[in-house]
Amino acid sequence: MSVSIASHFDGGAIEVISAVSSANVRLRIASDSRSTVRQWFYFRVSGVRGELLTLSLDNAGDCTYTAGWSDYKVVASYDGENWFRVPTQFDGRALRVRLEAKFDHIYFAYFEPYSEVRRAKFLGTLQTLPGVCVRDLCRSINGKPISLVRVSDGQRTSKKKLWFIARQHSGEAMAEWFVEGLLQRLTRQGCWEGDPIARDLLSRADILVVPNMNPDGSALGNLRMNAAGIDLNRQWSDPNAISSPEVLYVREEIMSTGCDAFFDVHGDEALPYVFAAGTETVSGSDQDRAREQETFVNHLKNATSEFQNEFGYATNKHEKDNLQLAARFIGHHFGCLAMTLEMPFKDNANCPDERTGWNGARSRALGAAMLQALYWQLCQR
Ligand code: ZN
Repeated sequence: MSVSIASHFDGGAIEVISAVSSANVRLRIASDSRSTVRQWFYFRVSGVRGELLTLSLDNAGDCTYTAGWSDYKVVASYDGENWFRVPTQFDGRALRVRLEAKFDHIYFAYFEPYSEVRRAKFLGTLQTLPGVCVRDLCRSINGKPISLVRVSDGQRTSKKKLWFIARQHSGEAMAEWFVEGLLQRLTRQGCWEGDPIARDLLSRADILVVPNMNPDGSALGNLRMNAAGIDLNRQWSDPNAISSPEVLYVREEIMSTGCDAFFDVHGDEALPYVFAAGTETVSGSDQDRAREQETFVNHLKNATSEFQNEFGYATNKHEKDNLQLAARFIGHHFGCLAMTLEMPFKDNANCPDERTGWNGARSRALGAAMLQALYWQLCQR
């Protein structure tokens, strides 16, 4: 049986060097659109049932975040729904994966993908629920909708406005899983039916969520960039309609709606932890905001054991980018709590799961736990 590799689907990206036998499939990780950034991969290998499949991603050592490959395991799935981690080695140059294939074809990805079809179904369901409004703020460069979900109990208009944006960096699919979990709890779907936290939180605040800031990059299989090769999280002080419309129109909506707390949800390639980066290095950030942030971080730690604040970025990591970053810009403009939330591509070293690593379900659970922390922040002062 001959081996074949396919990546011409939503989020797919890989380059094939050679695939003559399942014992020696050699691939290259592709670069983002109009960019030298490279890290994301997602492809299907077929014709391998019962064979010991050996894949080599030959240029892993030339990728943007090589620290992302140490202690990293590729994710795989036979059905595109259930993903598991596969033994993976990195020798400084290539990333090698070995797996005995149980079925004819198998998907491999950098992280459990979140598809455009899933987004469409989820937003379609949300719009039918009481208190939920889903509308498109603008179109991406390639014409995909940038949707805003607003959840409110409709009681009065002077409530606080809490914002979440996800997936500015398109390959950070965990961010979209996170907001799915947050929105499911907020709208009391499934196991969250009757959840008093969501009800009480909505009595104090409207919650506004942009589940995917960069649908072009997500569809194209980019790790970070949009279709124009632009890093959206470096555009917030000066976005434009040609190369960063996604930021321009979302920022406009935030400006006109107002903002009392802002969370920009991401994934980190290297660090095996869930952590937050705040606004502490922005000039003018005052003591009240620092205290508010510290209180919130403690609430989030109490809400879920997945979150910690021992490991994270050095506080000056993004100093040179300053107000180009979403959380920095919004925190500075509104003088509000504004944070970048990071989840791992690898696993959470504080509570590792050999089978799944960090995945969509854990990201969803973290999103749901976030509401508990916000509840404590707003409702129990
Ligand atoms: Zn990111």
